[in-house]
Amino acid sequence: MSATQVTSSTTAVGVRAVERCDRCGAGAKVRVLLARGGELLFCGHHARTHEDKLRQVAVALRSIG
Ligand SMILES: [Zn+2]
Repeated sequence: MSATQVTSSTTAVGVRAVERCDRCGAGAKVRVLLARGGELLFCGHHARTHEDKLRQVAVALRSIG
């Protein structure tokens, strides 16, 4: 079990904010945690569209909501 260090001080865990797909602005369904740090948000459509690529660069894909 490895500890994950969160470097972003702006991330409010547990607060439900309106999160938008980075591609089209629709409501985000998937949060992608990147191996190099940071994260991306995608709607269901774009999560599937970019899934193969995301699995190469992501450490985790998590459903939102
Ligand atoms: Zn989208």
